[in-house]
Amino acid sequence: MSLSRIVIIGAGQAGANAILELRTQGYEGSITLIGDEPHLPYERPPLSKEVILAPDSARVEILSAEKLAALQVNLITGNGATRIDPEARLIELENGDTLDYDKLLIATGGAPRRLPMLDRLEQGVYTLRNLEDARKLITVFAPEKRIVLVGGGVIGLELASSALAKGCRVTVLEQESMVMKRCAPALLGEYLVGRHRAQGIDVRLSARITRAELQGEEIHLALDDGQTLVADAVVYGIGILPNVQPATTAGLEVEGAILVDEHCQSSHPDIYAAGDVAAQRRQGLDRPLRIESWENANNQAAIFARHVLGLAPPAVRAPWFWTDQLGINIQFVGDMAAARWHLRGDLQPGTDSAFALIGVTEGIVVAGITVNQPREMRNLRRMVDNRLCFQAEQHLDLARDLRKTA
Ligand SMILES: Cc1cc2nc3c(=O)[nH]c(=O)nc-3n(C[C@H](O)[C@H](O)[C@H](O)COP(=O)(O)OP(=O)(O)OC[C@H]3O[C@@H](n4cnc5c(N)ncnc54)[C@H](O)[C@@H]3O)c2cc1C
Repeated sequence: MSLSRIVIIGAGQAGANAILELRTQGYEGSITLIGDEPHLPYERPPLSKEVILAPDSARVEILSAEKLAALQVNLITGNGATRIDPEARLIELENGDTLDYDKLLIATGGAPRRLPMLDRLEQGVYTLRNLEDARKLITVFAPEKRIVLVGGGVIGLELASSALAKGCRVTVLEQESMVMKRCAPALLGEYLVGRHRAQGIDVRLSARITRAELQGEEIHLALDDGQTLVADAVVYGIGILPNVQPATTAGLEVEGAILVDEHCQSSHPDIYAAGDVAAQRRQGLDRPLRIESWENANNQAAIFARHVLGLAPPAVRAPWFWTDQLGINIQFVGDMAAARWHLRGDLQPGTDSAFALIGVTEGIVVAGITVNQPREMRNLRRMVDNRLCFQAEQHLDLARDLRKTA
């Protein structure tokens, strides 16, 4: 089959990067990018940080209108895909229009997991996934406002940090016994709880809301320990659900996310999926892996582009992501479920410090975390990618340069 029509559903991180990779690799056929938002493709990491703190200078755009024109992309905005017919290779849009494709990439991301108990209040309750959500928070986070963040994951803690910087009185409620439990070891979680508390954020662990009610302009949250919190606004971030709706209409294999192979190819050979919406089967893993990160969206977009063009895939590297909170830059690489974590440097609870954590499983370096040491991340990445044997005397001794051991 000749390849002359590529369609991408989802004008976000993976969608935009698929276009860049297709053109960089010499694809000259048509590209149509379908977005359900009214915007040009933009990045989400600044939404919880710069967009709230410095809305006038924050830059989110991935592809400008000029760039899209230069790349000869047919962009459709504010008109999502509703149905895919894989046999006819046809996509239907919200307004009833249809489009043909030879190869299709689904990069529809995810939507916030909902908490009906809070949604029911219909006032003063927010989530954060897109630009409009972030713009609302610019005014919600006003000085002295009582803000409760429900969920002590990456987004909850980044928002707590932004709310604090804007002069709010901030509480974080986490139902688990530690923050960021899903993506970081307890040692890092404890450090972060210490930092947030030292800055005046009331972090409550193992805390569950049993009742939420609106009393005038205030939101009253009853907790399972018998206490009641009063808030001017509640923002919750308890994870996302992948936007699989168009994929299900195509009859693709979907288990919460679109299942893809190592080429990002779905159960139908003409349809691929990338980014937050895709769960990838990988060699050596017993179940498909879904990664919610900026880098993973870019990587999978490149894997898709190269595969449809018949090119070799990019090198597989250990997953990497970052978070910025309270002025602390934290970067993560590899398997956060490492069996043991070793500290390199000086971790002083409650104070700003720079250190690294090295994750080891069966004697092999499988993960690394840097805290305020972005340069060290390059060395840790290499150690993880090369599956180095862990050697405490070399790797934990600050007098020894990790560059030389990596
Ligand atoms: C607030 C926030 C902060 C983050 N911070 C970081 C960070 O610091 N570091 C990090 O590594 N990662 C971070 N992430 C995660 C990262 O942004 C995501 O993993 C990444 O955006 C995923 O890219 P994607 O292309 O899969 O999805 P998205 O970028 O979400 O793009 C999907 C697009 O598809 C659209 N869409 C959905 N359904 C349809 C449809 N039927 N038809 C057409 N379009 C549709 C969506 O509206 C959206 O525009 C953050 C995410 C958020 C929300």
